[in-house]
Amino acid sequence: MGNVDREEKQIKFRRELLDISHLNMPTFCEKCQGVMVFKGVGEYKCEDCGHLEYDDYGKCRNYIETHPGATSAQVSAGTGVSQKAIRQMLKDQRLEIAPNSHAFLKCESCGASIRYGRLCKACEVKYHRELEDEARAHKPHSNMSGFSTKIPKSEEGAKRFTKDW
Ligand SMILES: [Zn+2]
Ligand SMILES: [Zn+2]
Repeated sequence: MGNVDREEKQIKFRRELLDISHLNMPTFCEKCQGVMVFKGVGEYKCEDCGHLEYDDYGKCRNYIETHPGATSAQVSAGTGVSQKAIRQMLKDQRLEIAPNSHAFLKCESCGASIRYGRLCKACEVKYHRELEDEARAHKPHSNMSGFSTKIPKSEEGAKRFTKDW
């Protein structure tokens, strides 16, 4: 009975995380359809060909690192990420545009102190590993090269992020 409660809690927690994960996270490699594996701070690497991609968060972080003091409008112009998405990241405290806050947050999964976001590094990685397992289970026809031309690229791209989670 305790186990069921715990399971329900975890499912709820996972749903909440997915709700805030509107970051255009790459799931499959645009070059070879391999699974994109989370490397940290918004960076993903294809496990098959090594191609690197960034989610919106990674793009913004990279921009802010090379343009310290940039405003959200500049970040938006420089990355192509909408100001609305940037505002949401700030609200979620995933992004620190002015790194002068000393307020420590707690990881919502394990309670560790963190400077931004909702999860500590370890829990964030764990969360992504789960998504990657799921992606592997739904990997599009990777071992059937003969079939790979059957799905038009555009259709595939459109379906990429429309899973019901
Ligand atoms: Zn690849
Ligand atoms: Zn944690």
